[in-house]
Amino acid sequence: MLTSEQDAWTLFLECIEERSSAVEFANWIAPIQKIASHPDRIVLEVPNIFVQEYLLDNYKKDLALFLPLNENGHPSIEFVIAEVQKKKTETLSDTPSIHPVSEPLIKDSFQLNPLYKFETFIEGPSNQFVKSAAMGVAMRPGKSYNPLFIHGGVGLGKTHLLHAIGHYIKEHHPKMRIHCITTEGFINELVKNLRDKTLDQMKKFYRSLDVLLVDDIQFLQNRMNFEEEFCNTFESLIHQNKQIIITSDKPPGQLNLSERLTARMEWGLVANVGIPDLETRVAILQYKAEQKGIRLPQKIAFFIAEHIYNNVRQLEGAINRLSAYCKMLGLDITEETVERSLSELFQLAPSKKVSVENILKSVSLIFEVKVSDLKSDSRSKDVAFPRQVAMYLAKELINESLMKLSAAFGGKTHSTLLHAWKKISGQVEQDEMLRRRIDMAKRNLEA
Ligand code: ADP
Ligand code: MG
Repeated sequence: MLTSEQDAWTLFLECIEERSSAVEFANWIAPIQKIASHPDRIVLEVPNIFVQEYLLDNYKKDLALFLPLNENGHPSIEFVIAEVQKKKTETLSDTPSIHPVSEPLIKDSFQLNPLYKFETFIEGPSNQFVKSAAMGVAMRPGKSYNPLFIHGGVGLGKTHLLHAIGHYIKEHHPKMRIHCITTEGFINELVKNLRDKTLDQMKKFYRSLDVLLVDDIQFLQNRMNFEEEFCNTFESLIHQNKQIIITSDKPPGQLNLSERLTARMEWGLVANVGIPDLETRVAILQYKAEQKGIRLPQKIAFFIAEHIYNNVRQLEGAINRLSAYCKMLGLDITEETVERSLSELFQLAPSKKVSVENILKSVSLIFEVKVSDLKSDSRSKDVAFPRQVAMYLAKELINESLMKLSAAFGGKTHSTLLHAWKKISGQVEQDEMLRRRIDMAKRNLEA
């Protein structure tokens, strides 16, 4: 914690602004106002509960570095929700609320991150398909897949692709009316328009669009009233052949949304952004380093990519941190400086008991196969090889009889397991890439 609470919040903001994307910062962090700061706590005003949750979910550790801590060691923050406050003052003063008609209803109609373009998106096997789908939609809005539904884990480039589509359309179809929203922004807008009795204007605006980009639809889950309005907007646009692109952390079927909306979202094309493989991660690191004017030796790029494997945003963060660290201390980028500056980001965690199930999960992630396939009888090479790796790891890491271990692989015989172990043990000696992947699977087990 810093001694001067006066500056603590500002310092925190500066640190976060460096690390978060411009859109993320503008949507989630900038709306937070510091109201007061006391030696033992800070009071923050947030526009809604989502922003509060977002801040705590994503930045708790950083907050703890800058702000006073409570007795449990957590940052000591008192949150005040802005809307509630406003309403309170309105009732208290009993004056009719004033809503200046001139105030633009839609403020953020073009919050596209200038860095999120197709040209700056590095392709690999895990994202090639979704990128070409996104390009297809951008080239012929409303005429190819509609809606395009992009899903995938955190930090894998969903928002990047969404904005890339926006940029491309803006440039190549300048007459089209595009609007980009976060689901959170849509809800806030809806709340505001309901309160101000200007819902008709909002509806009119949305229904006049040619392209609607919607980020993070998962935030619509469990919000029935908003979901219905969104669904109406959606249908009205789709019926006019207007393009809709949606991103989400899960595929439509796994979201807790109405059947009606789920079905609509599956009408077009559902595409997944996967975890980039090792080579792609290295390419991303090298690209980001080049952008920052840093020379990143290939060996170091591999080293980082092996330790950070399921989030591109973290790869970016690693480059920023490494560059700051080396510049500040006047050091060269070596494996040692990398380890010293990035160890916190590396995906290591205290070891826990290893089970065949954990191994299967870990291997399935690294080799991009399903756990159920690993347990199946499939002999396809794409499945059989990772299965052998999993068997090898099981024998190496678990102190159990071969009998028991092989049973846990969907009832394989112990000689199958032994054969797999021998084969992979031999290959590991010679195949550097395989060794790296196995090391990753092992580290993953510990995470
Ligand atoms: P998501 O929306 O899936 O959580 P983002 O689109 O915000 O992830 O991506 C996180 C960061 O990683 C962004 O800065 C983005 O530019 C970068 N990024 C993600 N995927 C790629 C990629 N394939 N090539 C280059 N940068 C990428
Ligand atoms: Mg995103």
